[in-house]
Amino acid sequence: MKAITVIPGQKNSIHFVSDAPDPQPGPGEALVRVLRVGLCGTDAEISEGLYGEAPGGSSYLILGHENFGVVESVGSDVKGIKPGDYVVASVRRPCTECFNCLHGRADLCTSGHYTERGIKGRHGYMAEHYCESPDFLFKIDRSIREIGVLLEPMTIVEKGVAEALEIQKRLPAKPRTALVMGAGPVGLLAAAALRVRDLETQVVSREPDTDARAQIAKAMGCVYRSVETTPLDQLGRQISAPDIILECTGSSAVGFAAMQMLAADGILCLLSVTGGDKTELVHAAEINRELVLRNNVVFGSVNASPTHYRLAIRALKAVEKKWPGVLARLITNRLPWTDYAQWFNRQVQGIKSTLEIAG
Ligand code: BGC
Repeated sequence: MKAITVIPGQKNSIHFVSDAPDPQPGPGEALVRVLRVGLCGTDAEISEGLYGEAPGGSSYLILGHENFGVVESVGSDVKGIKPGDYVVASVRRPCTECFNCLHGRADLCTSGHYTERGIKGRHGYMAEHYCESPDFLFKIDRSIREIGVLLEPMTIVEKGVAEALEIQKRLPAKPRTALVMGAGPVGLLAAAALRVRDLETQVVSREPDTDARAQIAKAMGCVYRSVETTPLDQLGRQISAPDIILECTGSSAVGFAAMQMLAADGILCLLSVTGGDKTELVHAAEINRELVLRNNVVFGSVNASPTHYRLAIRALKAVEKKWPGVLARLITNRLPWTDYAQWFNRQVQGIKSTLEIAG
């Protein structure tokens, strides 16, 4: 079959192949035809040779983890899904040794021996087909099929928000205000997840107020602030301190700035896997003192559990109902998958790009 592959660790090794082995589903698996995949910073990092791992025994990795497909056939032991169902497959698979993985929380793996499709030790979804156990497949209603490819990034956001709200159960008062740093796909999905929960949400990003990202944030009832007009070092003084901050820019400097903007008892969730080895001069003692004196919590969150997939499906449906069509505006570029190089060579602007694999 056709697929897009990389040799992990080797910069610019990405290429289109026509002879990847066809997947052979077992009796407990479904064969899924991939319709489209979403592209994200992790794919770019893998293509740059900075991240990623091929499956054991393979010299290459089929890339792609944000996916959307349709079930083509199911094995004799498969229950709950049938040919024609739209599905999204999760990314992470458990290790066989840690307690969390053995209890359904591969997203909280402690051994580090988990695998991730399209990222670490397991082939991904930039291929005509894949096969998978229904345990890792999530059915997508027709009502949200146009935005089904946003499910995986939405699970990342839902986990961050769910954990933040879980931690804030320590407070007698419920969180009321939120700030999202960054208006990329994850930032805008975070804004959506917060707004459907009725939190007063501000989104801060680089783009001017007239940009499509700002318009999308405002369409969901957020206040948008561009750092062009409100520089980050003045932001804390211009807004009332938020109860929840979600950091979605991929900049560690922004993460540290966010720590200093939190309200008393507020919580900061770091959602970006920041690449590179940038060092930063920070006021460590002051940050430490303020975090303590204000009972702040700063936590990181990666990947998502099946519960977060279900929450994310619910959230996509709720956003679609409340602001019909708004999330589809995130998908700004639908590229034929043979044009993948345009995106990896940074020739494509926009919010979220997808590779269209089958019509
Ligand atoms: C993916 C996650 C994954 C993480 C680390 C992100 O881009 O969305 O599912 O766990 O990368 O590999």
